This record gives sequence, structure tokens and C-alpha cells, in this order.
Amino acid sequence: MVQRKQIFINGEFVDSRSEQFDAIINPTTGDVIAEAPACTEDDINAAVKAAGIAFQSWKRTTPGERSLALLKLADRIEQHADELAVMETQNVGTPIQFSTHLIEFIVDNLRFFASAARMLQGPVSGEYLAQHNSMIRREPLGVIGSIAPWNFPLAMAIWKIGPALATGNTVVLKPSELTPLTALKLAELSIGILPPGVLNVVTGQGTEAGAALVRHPEVKMAALTGSVRAGISIAKEAANSMKKLHLELGGKAPFIVFDDANIEDAVFWAAAGGYYNSGQDCTAATRIYIQESIYDEFIQKLIPFVESSAIGDPMLPDTVVGPVISEAHLKKIDEMVQRAVQISGCQVLAGGSRLERPGFFYKPTVIAGAKQSDEIIQEEVFGPVITVTPFKTDEEAIQMANDCKYGLASSVWTKNLDRAMRASRELEFGEVWTNAHLMLTSEMPHGGHKMSGYGSDLSIHALEEYTRLKHVMMKFE
Ligand code: NAD
Repeated sequence: MVQRKQIFINGEFVDSRSEQFDAIINPTTGDVIAEAPACTEDDINAAVKAAGIAFQSWKRTTPGERSLALLKLADRIEQHADELAVMETQNVGTPIQFSTHLIEFIVDNLRFFASAARMLQGPVSGEYLAQHNSMIRREPLGVIGSIAPWNFPLAMAIWKIGPALATGNTVVLKPSELTPLTALKLAELSIGILPPGVLNVVTGQGTEAGAALVRHPEVKMAALTGSVRAGISIAKEAANSMKKLHLELGGKAPFIVFDDANIEDAVFWAAAGGYYNSGQDCTAATRIYIQESIYDEFIQKLIPFVESSAIGDPMLPDTVVGPVISEAHLKKIDEMVQRAVQISGCQVLAGGSRLERPGFFYKPTVIAGAKQSDEIIQEEVFGPVITVTPFKTDEEAIQMANDCKYGLASSVWTKNLDRAMRASRELEFGEVWTNAHLMLTSEMPHGGHKMSGYGSDLSIHALEEYTRLKHVMMKFE
């Protein structure tokens, strides 16, 4: 018997009003491991109502009190780290070594949000008109509708609810319909720490449950990590109730290797950055641009390295590439690769097909010969596929990197500080790494430019997003 999940409203697990359930699948085997309710508007209304009532007292707690609660929640997540990592690996296919590391990172993120809440710039006062004292109050917004994707389910949930709760908001979280298990576990872990209604978790489809959350007039902000398609749809809907928005959307990160780079490091990170979580990462190194003079050497080193990647059961400790999330997603990845070959005339240097075994495995793939205008360069594959393209000058590399609608993350590989600084200035991305890729830290913002959205996850700036300012002025004699 597959376990049927309940949803979490007002501090307890309850049955959904919906009779429909979504199958939750282990992508390593294709087996159904659970079922979660496909919530409808009635469930969303109940969750928002509970969050609205809880907001009336949660907003009056002090930053210190909220910080203490979030620190306790971080401790509890840490105590359940192994269980959460296994759950994430079984539901997403992320290799266990990475899931384990991600839980450690999430605990650090939550501890950061908890502490930062006490440091958020408080009332700033001054006499800017004679005998009138001005001050600024920074206030929470109310109920936040947080919507998470399937690629890093718990991390994306923590990045949304951490700063929201730390600043005095209450939350209705909707995880992806494909991966709700760790979000529901988080709800369970919050019992006894967060007052009822402060965190609510509803499950279901984006176009049904997610859309109802965004539509709800009592939801004051919609925070999405997801695709550009969902971001546009949410932005249009949110306009009707003038909701604040926070949109962390797709990416198509360039990875620029200049001729003075440490080639071994660059090769390792092109593969590590391109195939981490099977390339299902918004910051994945997808477009590898290599200076002409070192192109052949780079490719000669890259291909054997890619072909020797440990791909397979993500529960094994040495696996570095697991499955992709679903059969449908695998088909989409393969179709993009086949179109690159058949329509654009690209060459497959490694991979290019599914791995013949149960589950949804796609071989780490390297594609050469793509033109800037090709789909494989311009659109997010969100799978273990990288392109390799030579360039002549630094300017050409920057121009090709920027020639894309996405603007989330990018990296340059060089030992020359001037080159690195110039690239940092010119690249139109929210994140520019030099001699690194994928690295994030709790203290620094993560967010996109251009079609990758707006707003910051992580850092003190994430907390600011979940607040609004009020000018209070007092005349005195
Ligand atoms: P998705 O957009 O299909 O779904 C994301 C979430 O939005 C899900 O919970 C889904 O149910 C919900 N949703 C979908 N349509 C909706 C609508 N109309 N109204 C309300 N909710 C809706 O994305 P996905 O396939 O789950 O995730 C992959 C995408 O997420 C990729 O594009 C990836 O780049 C992006 N992503 C971005 C970041 C970042 O930090 N910028 C991080 C991780 C993933």
C-alpha cells in the first residue's frame, strides 16, 4: 500500500478536501513511493485563513523570539539530517553525497536567517523637517504564498520560508507536485516550535493549487522559484491584487575559459558544474566557451573525464550523476539533444542518449558545433547536457555569454585579475564566479537578472524583500 499524505494546516495534518492525488515517484526506479493530495481552492482558502489568523500574533513577536524558534527548527532539521537526505535522494534522485551536504547547507541558511532577523536595519530616525521627527518602521507583509520547484525541494523551501518567518510573516508553502515529501516532513518538524498557522504546507499542481494561492487576496506576496513560464503567469495574476513578487527563475549559465586558465580545474568544474544534480540546477554550467588556442586540449581532457563519471544509483556513496526527475523530463531532454543534432547540425562528443536501465537516467552529454542562435544554446535543457564553443577574443566571449535571455549565474576561468574584473563588470548575470562555479553562501545574495527574475534569496537582502517600509512622523514643540 502506497502511503497517502495529508496536508498541514494550522499546526496539524489534515485530509485535503480534494479527492484527487498526485503520484510521487522515485526516479531511480520509476516506482510510486507515495501519493499527495492535489489540493484545490478550498484547501488553499483554509490554509490562508489559518496563516492570516496566526499573523496577528506572530507579527507582534520580537526578532529575538522568532530567531529562537528558527534556531530550534534548524537544530531539529540537523537531528533529522540523514532521514531528510535519504528522502530527498529517493524523491529527486540527487546523489546522496550531495543531498547530505545540502541539508548541512540548509541548516546553515536557516541559522543565518534566524540571526539576521535581529540585525535587519531597524527604525532610523532624524529631524528632517524642523520639529518633526521621522522614523522608519520595517514591517512584515502578512501571509506569504511560497511556491517551490522540484530540483532542490527542501533547500528552495527554506530559502523562501526562512526570511519570511524571520521577519514576522506567516507562510503557506506549496512544494512541487513531484516532490512534496521533505516539505511535509519539515511541517512535522515544526510542530511544537512554530505556533499553529505560522507555517502551512499544501500540495498539488501549479495551475490549480499554486494559482489559487497567487490569486488569494489575503496573500500579500507570492515568492516563486521555478520556470520563466510559471513566473510570467504568476506575475500576471499577482497584478490583479497588487501582490509583491519574488521570482527566482531559470538560468543558462555561461562558463568562460580564458587561455591562461588552469585547464585541469576548469575541466573538472565544467563537468561538476554541468552535471551536478543531473544538470537540474538553475546555475548549472551549461554553455562552456573556450578560448580557441586551448580548445583542443580542453576537449581532449573533458571527454574522458565526462565518460568516466560515476552515473547510477544515487544512494551509493560514490555516485555523482543520478537520474533526472521523470520520464517526461527525460524525453524533453532527449528531444532537445536530437533537435540540436538533426536541425542544427551539432555533434555529440559524449553521451547523447538515455542509459539503458530502469529509472530515468540520461548520459552526461557534451555537444559541439552549436551556433549562438540554436535552441540548445538559448533554452534551458535542465538536464546533464553541456555545449562547448570556441571563441577568439575576451570581448567575443562576453558578448556570447550575454547573448541569452537568462541572467542568473556565470563564471570565468583565468589567472588574470584584470580579465576577471572586466568580466565581472560586463557579464549581465546576478552571480559571477571567477575560478569557481555553483558556490553559494548564506551571507551573499542569489538572484537573477533579465528573464531569470528579480529578488534575492539568501543574505540580509532576502529578509528585506519580505518587509515593507512605513514612514512615521511626529511633530513636537
Ligand atoms: P515550474 O515552474 O514548473 O514549477 C515550479 C513551482 O511552481 C511548482 O511548485 C509548480 O507547481 C508551481 N507552478 C507552476 N505553474 C504555476 C502557476 N501558473 N501558478 C502558480 N504556481 C505554479 O518549475 P520546475 O520545473 O518545478 O522547476 C524547474 C525550474 O525552476 C527551472 O526553470 C529552474 O531553472 C528553476 N529554478 C530556479 C532557481 C533559482 O534560484 N533561480 C532555483 C531552482 C530552480
